[in-house]
Amino acid sequence: MRFNTRLIHDAQPPDPLTGAVNPPIYLSSTFRQAAPNRHQGYVYGRTGNPTRAVLEATLASLESGRAGLAFSSGLGALATLLEGFPSGSRIVAGDDLYGGTWRLLDHHRRQFGVRAEFEDLGSRPVVSRLLKTPADLVYLESPTNPLLKLVDIAEVARQAHRAGAVVAVDNTFATPALQRPIELGADVVLHSTTKYLGGHSDIIGGALVFRDRRTASRYAWLQNAVGAVPSPFDAYLVLRGLRTLGVRMRAHEEAARAVASALEGHRRVRAVHYPGLASHPQHALARRQMSGYGGIVSIDVAGGLRAALRFLRRLRVFTLAESLGGVESLVDHPATMTHASVPEELRRAHGVTDGLVRLSCGIEDPSDLVDDVLQALRGA
Ligand SMILES: *Cc1c(COP(=O)(O)O)cnc(C)c1O
Repeated sequence: MRFNTRLIHDAQPPDPLTGAVNPPIYLSSTFRQAAPNRHQGYVYGRTGNPTRAVLEATLASLESGRAGLAFSSGLGALATLLEGFPSGSRIVAGDDLYGGTWRLLDHHRRQFGVRAEFEDLGSRPVVSRLLKTPADLVYLESPTNPLLKLVDIAEVARQAHRAGAVVAVDNTFATPALQRPIELGADVVLHSTTKYLGGHSDIIGGALVFRDRRTASRYAWLQNAVGAVPSPFDAYLVLRGLRTLGVRMRAHEEAARAVASALEGHRRVRAVHYPGLASHPQHALARRQMSGYGGIVSIDVAGGLRAALRFLRRLRVFTLAESLGGVESLVDHPATMTHASVPEELRRAHGVTDGLVRLSCGIEDPSDLVDDVLQALRGA
């Protein structure tokens, strides 16, 4: 079956007990045992829950992995992933990452003696230089948050595997509707299901999907040992969101394309970052690696911080808030909001300027979004 059909049917196996077309939300924290250790597959809600199990199987299928695990947040998923990399491990990470991801990797570097390097994995010579020496984990986003830079996942995976590293890709921005890293050679996919997969800005959640079962069962052990699991209700809401992921991503993209084209060349905008624009330096890679360009557009407002703040104040349809990927359009100022945990020099060096504004284009009428950004720029 094709992806958009699987979005509906993988998430919705009729309940074997009643035929209900939606999976029941099992709120039970524990499960009866007929005799000690004789049970029906479920023991305790942290270890496993039937509603969560439907979500985990669905995510594994959609990401072309063998198994998936759901977590209480994207960072809960990352924290659990990092439990697998002890002191002395070498982690090669991208230099443009979600602020919280950078913060947690940096914490592991300081606190636990993990060696973490943050480099531009979009550059082939940089990747070749970094992966000449052995590594344990290559961790990347593509497209990146907030600059929408791309990484050639297949190429990085080839070189990483030669260096002995596991490749983990944060696929939050693209979603499996537009990009499937495991098919390109990655070993692990991470999601903040808070964003597009949930899709309605009403849950916090995360996930890991694995290429092979052995790694997955090691991490199932860690999922239970660490305990950063989602509630059954949140697991259900992600399943509910997944069914409309296909139509939502098409609508997000239509809006993002309209906004990006309207702002490209605007005299009050210094740069528009969107992989769907022919002017994006990695547009060709985006066409090869993704089946769409997604709903996030970042712009550098001419005039720096003050102009950016004026622009934010004047927006009417876009709501100023952290997060992204919901049906409503949101706008973020990375330097002071989502990426404030990244030290200023580092942030600037990587191109996250004070004028940078990240637009998460929702599924409202694209013309209203275009009108909104244009009128707000008039006052910037
Ligand atoms: C939001 C986000 C995260 C963190 O996920 P939470 O669910 O907020 O913990 C990680 N990566 C990316 C790309 C994100 O946008």
